[in-house]
Amino acid sequence: MTQIQEILQRYWGYESFRPLQREAMQAVMDRKDSVVILPTGGGKSLCFQAPALVLPGMAVVISPLISLMKDQVDALTANGISAAAIHSMMNAEERRTVDRAIRDGSLKILYVSPERLAQERFRDYLRGANVSFMVVDEAHCISQWGHDFRPEYRQLRGLRDTFPDVHVHAYTATATSHVRNDIVEELSLREPEVLVGSFDRPNLVYRAERRADAFQQIGRVLGRHEGESGIIYCISRKEVDSLCERLNIAGHKAVPYHAGLRDEDRKRNQDAFIRDRADIVVATVAFGMGIDKPDVRFVIHAGMPKSIEHYQQESGRAGRDGLEAECRLLYSGADFMIWKSMLAKQEGETAEIALSKLEDMQRYCTGAACRRKTLLAYFDEHYPKDRCGACDYCLNELDTVEGSVEIVRAILACVDELGSMAGPTYTALVLSGSTEERVLSKGHDNLSTYASLASEGQRAVRDWIEQLVAQGYLEKTGEYNVLSVTALGRGADDSAPSLTKVSGRTRKSTATAVKSMEGVDAGLFEALRTLRRQEAEERRVPPYVVFSDASLMDMARKRPTNTIEFLGVHGVGQKKFRDFGDAFIAVIQRYCDEHGLSTNVTVSASTALELDDEPARKRPSKIDTWRQCEPLFKQGRAIEEVSAIIQRAPSTVAGYLLKYIEENQIADPAPWVHGSIFERVRECAASMETDRMKPVYQALNEEVSYEEIRICMACMRNLG
Ligand code: ADP
Ligand code: ZN
Repeated sequence: MTQIQEILQRYWGYESFRPLQREAMQAVMDRKDSVVILPTGGGKSLCFQAPALVLPGMAVVISPLISLMKDQVDALTANGISAAAIHSMMNAEERRTVDRAIRDGSLKILYVSPERLAQERFRDYLRGANVSFMVVDEAHCISQWGHDFRPEYRQLRGLRDTFPDVHVHAYTATATSHVRNDIVEELSLREPEVLVGSFDRPNLVYRAERRADAFQQIGRVLGRHEGESGIIYCISRKEVDSLCERLNIAGHKAVPYHAGLRDEDRKRNQDAFIRDRADIVVATVAFGMGIDKPDVRFVIHAGMPKSIEHYQQESGRAGRDGLEAECRLLYSGADFMIWKSMLAKQEGETAEIALSKLEDMQRYCTGAACRRKTLLAYFDEHYPKDRCGACDYCLNELDTVEGSVEIVRAILACVDELGSMAGPTYTALVLSGSTEERVLSKGHDNLSTYASLASEGQRAVRDWIEQLVAQGYLEKTGEYNVLSVTALGRGADDSAPSLTKVSGRTRKSTATAVKSMEGVDAGLFEALRTLRRQEAEERRVPPYVVFSDASLMDMARKRPTNTIEFLGVHGVGQKKFRDFGDAFIAVIQRYCDEHGLSTNVTVSASTALELDDEPARKRPSKIDTWRQCEPLFKQGRAIEEVSAIIQRAPSTVAGYLLKYIEENQIADPAPWVHGSIFERVRECAASMETDRMKPVYQALNEEVSYEEIRICMACMRNLG
């Protein structure tokens, strides 16, 4: 394993393993068959790629899509690893090059499609090559129980007979035992090592919220992710088109994606997203398979998916790189009805299963419990903690409604009074005291429950009705969704359900594994992103193939300006250092000069990237450290004072102060900078029309420190 660790550092610039990676690699090295089940972003590829470099010969990887193969080959090549794919889109010249590399034994990893491997001729060809082991990627495609069955995968059945001595390793993110058994059986695996990882994605923050004004709700999320990559899923193509258009009008860079677009448009839009030319892709569920973009920072569902499996899969496309990402789900009772009416066209057992999955999905949305715990429980995994610290419930963003008991009583009574003849919307109208004609004409303003919840507002009442349906106190029946009180509802006084209301607060997650931006200079990060985009365009690869966000953040934190320090950055191996080191170091050097930042910063272990397999709870918590200083800043304490109190360097405290100024929109730098100095800096910056520090520093005869200038400039930004 020391050999593997060396390889990891040299080619990938990684310093540690993610959970189960070590075991999975050991299985390959020990020449055993294996089945490895890890969630999306769990780091499956590395499990076979690293051993492939150590073992003699060439590893063959079977992958379902050309786009996936290309992506992997690009990433490997960028790390200086000899890898290639053979697929139908290559020309003769490209094919010959690969052929030569296979024959002279220099190729270490070869990607092929299952169809190709089914060809007798190709199998013969491979028999002549020195195959070290075989990998079946996305192995769930072999099972009809999976969500993506591909008949081509069934042709892999004969693999074992053709290559009796070659070990086979199957990888998937689908955990059910049905699928797992199918994989073992279909591939005739021999006493495989079965490794199943946790499906918890600690870096994802989950939120679910009833849809009111979707555009506004989406806008709020986008506001927190300016310039970052994200996916917005809609139920219908029409919604995709209209939402995308509105977003573009509002100034976002969004592209649409659905099955109704022409192939070339779809491809172009997908490409724009992958290459960071567009920030947002608005899509139906047609989008996602074959997208390995690691830096997706948010996934919004503008409508409710039809099952938790779908939700898990789609939301799971966020944050593959292990950095914090947000999953936000907007739902409404109408979504439930749309799916239900679609199911009504189906018959028999499958429709029944689908309906129960849909109900599970709705319960997830309206339930008042930890989202993470609920998701994991659905997949039969026990989450050991009561609160995860990274979902709307655990962050206390949902308010439990006071006086729930009376509200529940009023709603149930109204449903009874309406004689189980009305749907949720109408019931909400009556309870909130609507004077609409349809209510008055039926004389429902004379009911005893009429207007009994008038002070709560119609929208809230409508929401609570859904919550009661989801919790089993009310049920909807028939084509018109007529409400009636269930047996559970009749006993509601004994087991009062709890109602919640979205508070509108959004809190910073306290528990996600990686505090992405801690210690990162945001301006430098942006400058590095720009350079990354240029380098990527030049090489015609996606930006994340050049460097991941995690790497750029680590650079913007450590600010390395020499070889040794640069090689210490997360995700920088030898090849990337040779290819990109000079250009990135130059940008770092220039930026630090201009902004008076120190370089080659030693980052303490607690702020360094932690993507390793140490359990999160063992680490000391570092809950938004700067917030601990907030009260001290409020009291107007000087930087040195705060520094002494919290036992951190003054420069660190100055950084916290900047966050405090930014977050609280503070426009006056007193008491940290004297008013007269602020005036001088302001005048100088204004007359020079600059927001850079160095020219101001020089123009003021180096009399005002960089620290003071930076504080002034932060306040100037808040002057509006
Ligand atoms: P999966 O195929 O399981 O969805 P990937 O293999 O695409 O996951 O890995 C997700 C991301 O995590 C990639 O960007 C990969 O480079 C990165 N990664 C994998 N293993 C490690 C590790 N040990 N340390 C740091 N980053 C890793
Ligand atoms: Zn939670």
